[in-house]
Amino acid sequence: MPFTPAVTTTATHGRLFVIAGANLCVVRAETLALPVGAADDALHLGDLDGEPCFARLVEAGGEPAGSEPVPLRQLFGALPDEVFAVAGRALGLTAWDRDHRYCGRCGGPTERSTRERVRTCAGCGHTAYPRLSPAVIVLVERDGRCLLARNARTRMPFFSTLAGFVEVGETLEDCVHREIREEAGIEVADVRYFGSQPWPFTGSLMVGFTARWAGGELVPDPEEIADAGWFAPDALPVVPPPLSIARALIDDFVRRRG
Ligand SMILES: [Zn+2]
Repeated sequence: MPFTPAVTTTATHGRLFVIAGANLCVVRAETLALPVGAADDALHLGDLDGEPCFARLVEAGGEPAGSEPVPLRQLFGALPDEVFAVAGRALGLTAWDRDHRYCGRCGGPTERSTRERVRTCAGCGHTAYPRLSPAVIVLVERDGRCLLARNARTRMPFFSTLAGFVEVGETLEDCVHREIREEAGIEVADVRYFGSQPWPFTGSLMVGFTARWAGGELVPDPEEIADAGWFAPDALPVVPPPLSIARALIDDFVRRRG
């Protein structure tokens, strides 16, 4: 049964997605599980397999008895996909709930609505909905090779597809052209939608595209990129782990060209 999002419930107990920093509190048994307990004032997320799911933010030391905090990134692939996806919602929505306790317009206290996912200022009526930051992620091809780069900031050991946040007033397609131009110094054509993936760690929605090299030589932006190159499908560098959309783009390229 799929996950059904909902703002309110009559349930008082359920699965608890307890967030401590960037960690999710899990119970280690034969398989990884989530604590179950009273909802109290936790945010209702919705129902997974008919079971109510709640999210709560705790300080270090406030983990439910019998559970331990594990970095949510490490649970990518370790928890069932549908549970991990709800954990991503929990991370994003608890951050939203915490960060909008006060009105950004007048500074007064806000309240959670019981009808929709919004916090409203009692004083001026300003509303704060959960907000996503869309980002594009692009696999560019040239003569059977794909453009991969190692990020200069994250110091991740792998090469990945280029990505960047969409700016205000920009279309996704504009963003693809701008990001590739800024980061790699090249022009692209045939920009095609590939798929998307929520990325709760940065509150973003990754929108994947493929594109074809259309001009210019590779000149990586040293602020953003430590190393970049065109890679043949049988000579790839270390690439991101499975399940990420970056890896899905690369796997798709290998299927098509390998
Ligand atoms: Zn206000």
